[in-house]
Amino acid sequence: MKYKRVLLKLSGESLMGDQNYGIDGTRISDYAKEIKQVVDSGTEVAIVIGGGNIFRGLAAASKGMDRVQGDYMGMLATVINSLALQSSLEEIGVQTRLLTAIKMEQIAEPFIKRRAVRHLEKGRVVIFGAGTGNPYFTTDTAAVLRAIEIGADVILKGTRVDGVYTADPEKDSNAIKFDEITFKEVMEKGLKVMDMTAFTLSEENELPIIVFDMNKKGNLSKIVSGENVGTIVDL
Ligand code: UDP
Repeated sequence: MKYKRVLLKLSGESLMGDQNYGIDGTRISDYAKEIKQVVDSGTEVAIVIGGGNIFRGLAAASKGMDRVQGDYMGMLATVINSLALQSSLEEIGVQTRLLTAIKMEQIAEPFIKRRAVRHLEKGRVVIFGAGTGNPYFTTDTAAVLRAIEIGADVILKGTRVDGVYTADPEKDSNAIKFDEITFKEVMEKGLKVMDMTAFTLSEENELPIIVFDMNKKGNLSKIVSGENVGTIVDL
């Protein structure tokens, strides 16, 4: 295996499948199977899931809601998604722990770095819920932050696009995919990999990001075993 410990970032929207809201049962159980393969190969897996399929603070604020209140609602949405994924993983025999940045002791352990690392060492999948626990941040930033804290080798950003392109491939048919690109080039070319806070945190801590299509079966395992899938953003 190329990577010993990875942090997988999934957007909330990816859980919707073909729906336009909420969680698609088939999609989430497909993801659980992909994750199981990687765990079975001996790689330690931590996961951060977004909440955009349920609630986004910024979108609510644009309609007049208090931003901070909306962001807390968004963070709670990530916990709902985390519980759903935890359940799908446990159903197929993967041991998991959910650790949240906001205390919810009846349903999750509080986030404690040492505890997270210990769970990973024991082969459990660790899901980090409630983002960073702070408003005005995103789950991409939470993913980078947690990845650095637990010493992950790489962030695997699962999306519905299979990498970083010269332009948005869903809008521009001439867009060309990069196999690898540096953090500097991403900035110079004005490409979008993650929001700026998350992106610079990753660069400053020399944490590579692989952007890949999570909906293609086997992709996650291929990446972990060292195959070139998606786009790697590195120094
Ligand atoms: N959020 C937050 N702080 C965090 C992470 C998330 O306030 O550290 C809130 C924010 O309102 C955000 C929502 O939770 O819009 C859902 O997260 P995100 O938009 O990152 O989800 P994704 O786009 O990955 O589905």
